[in-house]
Amino acid sequence: MTGDDLDLALLGELCEVAGPSGREERVRAIVEPRLAQMCDRVEADPLGGVAGVRGDGPRLMLAAHLDEIGLMVTHVDDAGFIRFLTLGGWDAKTLITQRVTVHGREDIPGVVGTPPVHVLTAEQRTKLPEIGTLSIDVGLPVERVRELVRPGDVITRSRELLPMGDVLTGKSLDDRVGVFVMLEAVRTAGASACELWAAATVQEEVGLRGSRVAAERVEPRIAIAIDTCPANDGAGGDREGPGTTLGDGAAIRIMDASAIGSPELVEHLTRIAEERDIPHQFHVANRGGTDTRELQLSGRGSIAGCVSIPSRYVHSSVEVCHPADIAAAIDLVAAAIETVHVLADDTTGDG
Ligand SMILES: [Zn+2]
Repeated sequence: MTGDDLDLALLGELCEVAGPSGREERVRAIVEPRLAQMCDRVEADPLGGVAGVRGDGPRLMLAAHLDEIGLMVTHVDDAGFIRFLTLGGWDAKTLITQRVTVHGREDIPGVVGTPPVHVLTAEQRTKLPEIGTLSIDVGLPVERVRELVRPGDVITRSRELLPMGDVLTGKSLDDRVGVFVMLEAVRTAGASACELWAAATVQEEVGLRGSRVAAERVEPRIAIAIDTCPANDGAGGDREGPGTTLGDGAAIRIMDASAIGSPELVEHLTRIAEERDIPHQFHVANRGGTDTRELQLSGRGSIAGCVSIPSRYVHSSVEVCHPADIAAAIDLVAAAIETVHVLADDTTGDG
């Protein structure tokens, strides 16, 4: 597959829909019927995750998370501005002056306001903002805001997926691009000798919570998370530091702060990528984490790793991915579906 073959309408739909941690239902509504179409059955879990199941053999679990980073309303202040807490890892600088959608009694647009540079003192101009001091302006009087918005309502970034030069930019590519890769890999993969579980997980951004439950239910023998990884070739990036490069292919994640990829799976993914001429690179870091951790540590343990899609500006409203990397990740995960059963032939597990 090449970048030109991607179903950008589906990827756009997935990225643009709102689904912060704990409130993934709108994303699930897109994903579940597609899994149902391609699998023998789907299984939902009580947290809101869903998995498509098909085939026979050793259990292979794919996992991509439905949730995106978001915000949660704590209260509406006396001036009518919405105060909030964060769901997942935010950098305050990337939140200021952004458009958001407040999911109250109805969806309403808002902006994360900040005083204009004209009124800032010299000291204020050099100070980094703190999330706790920010609030959202929805342009309505306080009484009306309080009718529409209650504590616990969630807020998401508001941004369409836009082709930009050779790349794509938008919100929530983390991890809707992973969900997209999983769906497209399951759709395009050839025959598999595994019992395949394609799991759309929840609450990853608040601590890999949904994948723990999903993995306990599946008890995978082999597991592959699909998620973004930071690229260091963007604006302001440290090209000498650890990271990945857009356009260099799917990233096989070897290590991050949450997991060390099982060496036999890293080896297998690398070998099939070489054999099939799938562009690939490696991600080695001691920060960040993915569902891989919970997949690997669940139950009696599994052979687990992660296929990543390099992304610039992760956890902002202007995340950037390269279509060729997305296509490579689809091909690599599809190749894994077809071949990875060989790893279950040893005696370290239950087979
Ligand atoms: Zn992610």
